[in-house]
Amino acid sequence: MTRKAPPKVPLLAGLVDPRLTAARCAGRAPMFDDELEEESIENRSSRLAAAARICRGCPVLSACREAAHEQPHPTGIWSGTDFTEPRKNPGRPRKDRSA
Ligand code: SF4
Repeated sequence: MTRKAPPKVPLLAGLVDPRLTAARCAGRAPMFDDELEEESIENRSSRLAAAARICRGCPVLSACREAAHEQPHPTGIWSGTDFTEPRKNPGRPRKDRSA
């Protein structure tokens, strides 16, 4: 008697969420992360935009959107959406010119 081999599923994808096993981001996690060490603002912005473009062709985009909204605090790119929290201090405060 021969046993049928189990289907080949990427190890980490199987551990994360079975709805996302066909994810286009599989194996590219850092690209979708909120922040990378020593990354300039411009590079980060380009990286996240490229990640969001990959999502547009992802076969599990809807499931990913659902999964993102199930997370207490999603960060980075999920389903083509940037869940990055706004910077606490994005720049100098605007001066009130009416006074
Ligand atoms: S939609 Fe984007 S973040 Fe979600 S599984 Fe697909 S590639 Fe990954």
